[in-house]
Amino acid sequence: MTTWDWPGPVVGVLGGGQLGRMMALAGIPLGLRFRFLESKRPCPADAVGTVVRSAYDDEGALETFAEGLALVTYEFENVPVAAVDTLSGSVIVRPGSEALEMAQDRLREKEGFQRLGIPVDEWRAVETREELEAALEELGLPAVVKTRRLGYDGKGQAVIRSAEDLDEAWEKVGGVPLLVESFVEFDRELSLVAVRSRDGAFEAYPLVENVHEQGILVSTEAPASDVPKALQKKAEASMLRLMEHLQYVGVMAVEFFQVGDELLANEMAPRVHNSGHWTQDGAVTSQFENHLRAILGLPLGPTDARGVTVMINLLGGLPKIDVVAAEPRAHLHLYDKKPKPGRKIGHVNVVAHDAETAWSVAEKIRDTLPSSAGPA
Ligand code: AMP
Repeated sequence: MTTWDWPGPVVGVLGGGQLGRMMALAGIPLGLRFRFLESKRPCPADAVGTVVRSAYDDEGALETFAEGLALVTYEFENVPVAAVDTLSGSVIVRPGSEALEMAQDRLREKEGFQRLGIPVDEWRAVETREELEAALEELGLPAVVKTRRLGYDGKGQAVIRSAEDLDEAWEKVGGVPLLVESFVEFDRELSLVAVRSRDGAFEAYPLVENVHEQGILVSTEAPASDVPKALQKKAEASMLRLMEHLQYVGVMAVEFFQVGDELLANEMAPRVHNSGHWTQDGAVTSQFENHLRAILGLPLGPTDARGVTVMINLLGGLPKIDVVAAEPRAHLHLYDKKPKPGRKIGHVNVVAHDAETAWSVAEKIRDTLPSSAGPA
């Protein structure tokens, strides 16, 4: 039996962004407290716990941060592996650094997927412009070039549609190790969010459909429409293999391209994920609560959907609060971030019995956003 004394356990979170904020918002009702390590001031986690203000490579700050924590998790996947390794000497860190290492380098990620028999599109690793040209020759056009490290939300990547795009693409991403992928003419983008507990129990949410603009997520429909059982099973089997291989504990997301009845894995995120935000209002247990349950060794909660949820990201512009509040199916989640062009500052979940109703409300809210809102 697990129980905790008062005051409850303090969970340490590397990163103080919106994912950490929402994790705390899910964990506080369970009696947990939160401490974040974050260099930026202000940060979205300021309102929900204490923040140790430091870079990840300051050993003294890591020690102060770790003091008395029940365990440490992360909400940001570019946390230096060295910081996780240092912390692991004094406190349990879940998920461990192996998943982090795989997710931080697109080459390791692709090789890892392939080794586990998870289908991916055609790709080549390149460093020089000559190697890039040779890879494009082999793969054909269009193709996508991505930096192996530190890419997110469409940053660090360029699409090459014709030979004329090469100079601009090289200018944008060249000079560092790269991955070139053939451009996938997918039917749609789906993602799977799942959770694995310390004793190996596994639960997956239904596959969801994501729409990206300029590489940034703009909306999720959950569950995705018309998903055959076999497709959901395929996604879950890939996820389970990956999680078991990594001895993973916590929530993970994998983004797929659907091509016919095939799922090509594009990317993994060893953390709670934007395409799982719908679970806050549209699933029996949210991804944030399930992540905490998993890392703390509690039984996992059910992952069933409560209807159909449409999640829209608020990029750069705030909606009219009274319009959102007037919609009985809409739930507003703001991150306490200053609006800037293209910046994710919140999201709205619209939960309904059917997709049509959920979309009509979501579109109505989207129409009230300032014209500047959207990917920068
Ligand atoms: P990523 O950073 O790899 O998640 O890419 C961001 C978005 O860019 C994806 O969600 C897709 O919409 C698009 N994208 C990335 N790679 C490819 C590809 N190989 N083919 C087609 N679209 C892609």
